[in-house]
Amino acid sequence: MELKDISQKEVFRYLGYQNNVADKTTQNIAIECTTELLNCCRMNYTYKTFCCAVENGKVIIDNRIIIESKNLSKNLAECNELILFAATLGTQADILIQKYTHLDMSKAVIMQAAAAAIIEQYCDQCQNNIETELQKQTLFLRPRFSPGYGDFDLKHQKDIIALLDCNRKIGLTLTDSLLLAPCKSVTAVMGISNQNRHCNIKGCEVCTKTNCTFRRG
Ligand code: SF4
Repeated sequence: MELKDISQKEVFRYLGYQNNVADKTTQNIAIECTTELLNCCRMNYTYKTFCCAVENGKVIIDNRIIIESKNLSKNLAECNELILFAATLGTQADILIQKYTHLDMSKAVIMQAAAAAIIEQYCDQCQNNIETELQKQTLFLRPRFSPGYGDFDLKHQKDIIALLDCNRKIGLTLTDSLLLAPCKSVTAVMGISNQNRHCNIKGCEVCTKTNCTFRRG
């Protein structure tokens, strides 16, 4: 990814600016942080398709993993398959953020926000690539849904990491307290549908289809 792929608006959204505009100095620091991260990160992702069954507020993946989540079930309704997905910026991002935590705390805070924006936009890019492949078979993706959203318990990160063999494939692990390592990483589920709902890549929260049956709570 290059600097032009990273929306600085997103970086400032993570910094809590909402619709306010940062001063020029802060904008320049944000660009510096984004550039430094992009130069050092070794981004990677992995994904795999699994069969799924959705019933009574439960999602059963590959006939063996049971996830109790009404929000996820609603989002995956009518899907017989799903994709488990994981992506990471790698340990280099953590090391860089850690370095600035000691050197310059205000820069470390901006670095955190830039890293959050990069991983989200990297996931969007991966999701677009996956969807392009699926469309060749006239299949479409529902929005990605990560453990921790709504009632989708964080503990299911463990299942995703195990089913995708994340440690071996992209160096991603989970601590006993359910923190992803490296920190700037994402795990998610994406439903596969044979109907194109023109889902918003940013998810249901920003989608204008407010009466959609599959909208997550
Ligand atoms: S609300 Fe929008 S993004 Fe969410 S499932 Fe429906 S169409 Fe897709």
